[in-house]
Amino acid sequence: MIVLFVNKQRKFDTPYVETLKSVCQSAMDAVVSRSFVDRSLRDKSTCLSVTISFVGTEHMRKTNFQYREINSTTDVLSFPLLDMHNGKLNKPLEAQDVLWHNDGIGEIGLGDILISLDKAGEQAEQIGHSLERETAFLTIHAGLHLLGFDHIDPEDEKRMIAEQKRIVKALFPNEKKPDEDSPKGPVILPHSGFVALIGKPNVGKSTLINQLSGMKLSIVSPRPQTTRNNIRAIINRDNAQVIFVDTPGVQKPQNELSKFMAESSANAARFADVIVLMADGRFSGPVDSDRAVVERIAQFRKPVVLVINKVDTVVKESLLPIIEAYSRLYAFQSIIPLSARTGDQVEHFLDEVIGLLPPGPRYYPEDDYTDQSERSLAAELIREQILHYTDQEVPHGTAVLIDQFEEVDCVSPEETTDREIVKIYASIICERKSHKAIIIGKDGQMLKRIGTAARQNIEKMTGCKVYLELHVKVRTDWKNAYTHLNELGYGSGDSSGKP
Ligand code: GDP
Ligand code: MG
Repeated sequence: MIVLFVNKQRKFDTPYVETLKSVCQSAMDAVVSRSFVDRSLRDKSTCLSVTISFVGTEHMRKTNFQYREINSTTDVLSFPLLDMHNGKLNKPLEAQDVLWHNDGIGEIGLGDILISLDKAGEQAEQIGHSLERETAFLTIHAGLHLLGFDHIDPEDEKRMIAEQKRIVKALFPNEKKPDEDSPKGPVILPHSGFVALIGKPNVGKSTLINQLSGMKLSIVSPRPQTTRNNIRAIINRDNAQVIFVDTPGVQKPQNELSKFMAESSANAARFADVIVLMADGRFSGPVDSDRAVVERIAQFRKPVVLVINKVDTVVKESLLPIIEAYSRLYAFQSIIPLSARTGDQVEHFLDEVIGLLPPGPRYYPEDDYTDQSERSLAAELIREQILHYTDQEVPHGTAVLIDQFEEVDCVSPEETTDREIVKIYASIICERKSHKAIIIGKDGQMLKRIGTAARQNIEKMTGCKVYLELHVKVRTDWKNAYTHLNELGYGSGDSSGKP
């Protein structure tokens, strides 16, 4: 999320304005990370942008009059660029909605937000909370407007207020209600940030993330190259929020799919606050790919922690020479031997990482555990069962595409958003007719087994009943076809089909 700032007010000095900017940035990041945001705005090849201007009361009054014919000042105004309703686009994006930059990243502007800091200050004082808190609230409110939330329809308004509350609470988890008569000290910010987990395929990255989150987020398989997308696990502690990005293993690109996978590793490292390189303790020291990775990540000038995994399989004495060999390779912030499988030393590792993260508000609500949509997690859970039930050649030529993800709400009088059932229609895309036959199996038995197991896991994730319908399709050479890669969520966003 790119937030461009314009400062047109004089009341607050530069250092304080910088603080408010970072508050707005966190608030906007939190808004656009919510799962209601339209899928086509979450494409990997594009990013969202917004312009926030801090203005004075008079500027606000003039703008309010000019655009809304209301001749008084106000706290916040928003000017959306996209036609949206409750987070979803009313019509598909058009060419003019995306500004393509030279580096191949497309920028989608959501619109403009004007905030009157004088007015925000007054309101903060009346309510009895900080100006940071008020500025975050106004940004979230306006950000939701840009995404098509509104107060006109009472149902929509209810949703907007509920969303607003959740996001504010996530950003200010320690804040007490103002009417509680507690002393008002400064808000102690948790340590929060992104951690890129990098390493050769099969070293145990996904296992570590699962161990940390205590949930099955990243699919684990004894075969290399199982993880295709960067899956984020969000670990919340009283003092921290750590967002782990599980990257596909670093390797030499062979086709478009593996090229994308290699690039996403580098990107994860570039944008991370801390980089974790994982090695396999069963090897005696750095391997070639470790050297290549270290060379690459050294440029990013981020703290790098080395994890030596699978210590449950090696004798203690063999660890010392491995640690020495890695110390010669790079000045790691620390080197931590652990077992992702048994959990030995994993909590210690997490503490070490938390110590390296900058203080700042949480990026995601405290009760979120991943930023992946349920939709893409469902696809991963289906793919996991294909890996489980079929043999060598089939799975790595297979992708899962969710065609439809339909949520049916409970018709209960209570004001909860609980779902009755989620209906999922998915396609399994494979490279060969013979693979299709294997996946379907005799009398459809195999597909049934895959479907049942996947459905049970998806039900655990959604917490409600799931109806799952699977179709198997053949698309030869999908791994190299740009259009298909994009459709499947692996691509660079160029849907024109040209390389
Ligand atoms: P990734 O490719 O780096 O994500 O690796 P995975 O997490 O998918 O793990 C690859 C294989 O190594 C799986 O069979 C895991 O069960 C196994 N593995 C992961 N961590 C450990 C560990 O700490 N000890 C042992 N013995 N095996 C592990
Ligand atoms: Mg993995």
